[in-house]
Amino acid sequence: MLPSADVPSPTLPVASRSYPDRPMSQKVTPRSEDYNRWYTDVVQRAELADYSPVRGSMVIRPYGYALWEHIQQALDGMFKETGHQNAYFPLLIPYSFIEKEAEHVEGFAPELAIVTHGGGKELEDPLVVRPTSETIINAMFAKWIKSYRDLPLLINQWANVVRWEMRTRLFLRTTEFLWQEGHTAHETEEEARDESRLMLEVYARFAEEWAATPVILGQKTEAEKFAGAVESYSIEAMMGDLKALQAGTSHYLGQNFAKAFDTRFLDRNNELQYPHQTSWGASTRLVGMTVMVHGDDQGLILPPRLAPHQVVIVPIRDDDEVVETAWGITGALHDAGIRATMDDREGLTPGFKFNDWEMKGVPVRVEIGPRDLAAGTAVLARRDTPGAKAHVPIQGVAAAVTDLLDDVQQALFDRATVFRNEHTSYPADFAEMEEGVREEGGFFHAFWCGSPVCETQVQHRTQATIRNIPFDQPDERGPCIFCEAPGEHLVVFAKAY
Ligand SMILES: [Zn+2]
Repeated sequence: MLPSADVPSPTLPVASRSYPDRPMSQKVTPRSEDYNRWYTDVVQRAELADYSPVRGSMVIRPYGYALWEHIQQALDGMFKETGHQNAYFPLLIPYSFIEKEAEHVEGFAPELAIVTHGGGKELEDPLVVRPTSETIINAMFAKWIKSYRDLPLLINQWANVVRWEMRTRLFLRTTEFLWQEGHTAHETEEEARDESRLMLEVYARFAEEWAATPVILGQKTEAEKFAGAVESYSIEAMMGDLKALQAGTSHYLGQNFAKAFDTRFLDRNNELQYPHQTSWGASTRLVGMTVMVHGDDQGLILPPRLAPHQVVIVPIRDDDEVVETAWGITGALHDAGIRATMDDREGLTPGFKFNDWEMKGVPVRVEIGPRDLAAGTAVLARRDTPGAKAHVPIQGVAAAVTDLLDDVQQALFDRATVFRNEHTSYPADFAEMEEGVREEGGFFHAFWCGSPVCETQVQHRTQATIRNIPFDQPDERGPCIFCEAPGEHLVVFAKAY
């Protein structure tokens, strides 16, 4: 079943049990002053995650985990709709497996965590903590795939992976992170290629329809592709500081892993063949993306379809009739399938509560006080447009909120799209691009001759990399932005996370 905005959240109690004790004056660092500090402040103050005593690792707090669960549910629903099944494979993988595919081991060796001891003894064959599971999964596929009738094999795994990191950035760069990895095997190259493109489209649909974030779909260059893949594809989104974030990747693996693990099947002519494979992944980075695309100086702004609480109801006065009416509204919202929470915490001013829920990015707030009650109305305030309030009849709150949540979802997407387009440019030559990257940043669409030398030189001189080669290519080609030889592709250059 595809979860949608009208399924109440199973993940949080109706009333929040967090009683913040920080002083009201403790604001987040303004985005314009220091974007990185703003990001870290918001993630911590909104209680999404915290640093852990383990270097490179973070703790995902309940509110952050609830957001991740909504991301998971949305993706999981789409994976199942496209025919995939979930399974689980071991965390520890024999080092010898990783070595079987030459490019794979070369790419991952520097990031591996290796278990050398177990049960008090040195292990004869060391184990790696999975950085990704192509190898262990292929070891099993080799056992399961015997005939074309066993294909396609469409598997997904929700798991944690470890890739050694020295610098921690909450949700963006941590040694251990949560993700899903899809692994599929197909009879033909065409089918596998179609699958890798289909799953990229699933990620794009998630980004746009759930996370309200426009993305560019395209192919990675040879230098940026996954270690062991024939071709890699990505979706790239623009963050609030104009850097790019790779929000999901999908790979056509060819027969590389099948050959390494001798995975073969009898085809329709009774001949042994290697299957064609794909893998694709998205991670808790998507939480970081959601924060960076939509948040402001007051904190998070969550797209309604992903928000753990879509609505908070705040009674303005601690008076029986007001509180009772507020509970009545909460019930009506639940009945309408809206994830609503009533903030009946005592001893806190409405202003404090407003700030607190604004920090947490709740898309819509319903306020009700004695004067509203007398007028038979409630106040609706939306998080994405501060100060905009509407008075609606108490009986009509659920219907009005339902519409408003759709509006907010769309408005966030539109705003992010305008922002990205405003910061996308088409430099005429390299000098212009160099200056643009240095002075302002953003996405730079330019032609590239296809040479890795030009790719490296541009990165060296500007720190911008080719994010991807968009599927959407113009009919005409211009000269390479760096060497001015005939351009092969239009590409997107940007600095990236
Ligand atoms: Zn060139």
